[in-house]
Amino acid sequence: MRVSEVSVYSLSCPIEPKQVRPFYGGFRRLHKRDFILAVVETADGAVGYAPSGASSSVMREYFEDASHDSFADLLETRIADAIIGEEIDAPGDITTTIQNLDLPTKLESEAISVFDVAYHDLWGKRVGEPVYELLADRDVQPEPLDMYASAGMYMDPEGYAEQASVIAVRGFDAYKYRPAGPPEEDIETVRRIRERVGDEMEIMIDAHTWWKLGERSYDFQQVERLFNEIEAYDPYWIEEPVQPADYDAYERLAAATDVPLAGGESEESPSGLKRLSETGVDYVQGDVRHHCGFTGCWELIEACADDGSITFVPHNFGTHLGLVANAHLITASPESPLLEYPLFGSDVAGMYPFPLAEDVLLTDLDIADGQLRLPDRPGLGVEVDESVIEDYTHVDGPWTEFVYE
Ligand SMILES: [Mg+2]
Repeated sequence: MRVSEVSVYSLSCPIEPKQVRPFYGGFRRLHKRDFILAVVETADGAVGYAPSGASSSVMREYFEDASHDSFADLLETRIADAIIGEEIDAPGDITTTIQNLDLPTKLESEAISVFDVAYHDLWGKRVGEPVYELLADRDVQPEPLDMYASAGMYMDPEGYAEQASVIAVRGFDAYKYRPAGPPEEDIETVRRIRERVGDEMEIMIDAHTWWKLGERSYDFQQVERLFNEIEAYDPYWIEEPVQPADYDAYERLAAATDVPLAGGESEESPSGLKRLSETGVDYVQGDVRHHCGFTGCWELIEACADDGSITFVPHNFGTHLGLVANAHLITASPESPLLEYPLFGSDVAGMYPFPLAEDVLLTDLDIADGQLRLPDRPGLGVEVDESVIEDYTHVDGPWTEFVYE
């Protein structure tokens, strides 16, 4: 297979009016959601697609203008130049070519992800197999995938409880939310959610706020106290309770609590995920959009399956193209039981709108009662609607900002 053309589109979906969401010690502004769509063509006219997970807030570290547009440029110029014309017989060829460019680790993982996913889409189409069969290396009868509803951003306790009950009515049996502190309110929130939804619904707490509160970020003892209090409400997991890459803190928490731990979305590379998986966490959350694509995540899924004590549950918070890509991982891996399904403003009150999430696909996904049934078609198995390239033009600047008081 020889790549002949690479087009990378940096798209934006404005949030109008802009939203301001208060948290303990400040507020968060939400301007828009960004999305990068990569279109990779081969010399024989086949087309593969990939989403990029790179967000402007992450890219600020590498580019002066804090825009994901800069990353799209990098993909379309320096990286595409290195790949175009190369004979690519396996995803490893792409990995090596990109590694030879000596990019910072995070950029390298993100860039490999884009081309690895597009490669799998192209290769699946070429050989007539869905990506999940390429990964599993056997015939797979796709089963409906259980998804947990991911929403709940910086509300008062009653807001979360109300949202959880609406989501339960829609057929989901698991709900994840992002608390906004202070600690006593974090406890009150999980208490109210549990009271409202009963014992049947699983509750996941995405605690990234606990270390993103500026001067009010919780210290280790505070996090430990919260774990002790929250345990009574039987959370399915607590996610990112401490700073990413603070493996020592993850180890200490894992030793100190029986509450299941999850993390991984912020890791810079598959080796970071591997390191995290050795701390005693129960769930490791790789993402094909961040962690060297299918190749990087599949290695980790196999390692988790061998280990038996850690479960791979992909991080997934973006468009339906990313959802489908991560769903292929889960379909190929019987040990991975769950997929993250973000609900946006058109689906559930209390979230911001993100219509591009669904508009990017022409294919109507079969989603019902909290389950996704993947199409049984070659490659990623879905058709991308390229009219989003015209409809969601790029808007400069970061998509979100944390403002500390
Ligand atoms: Mg998270």
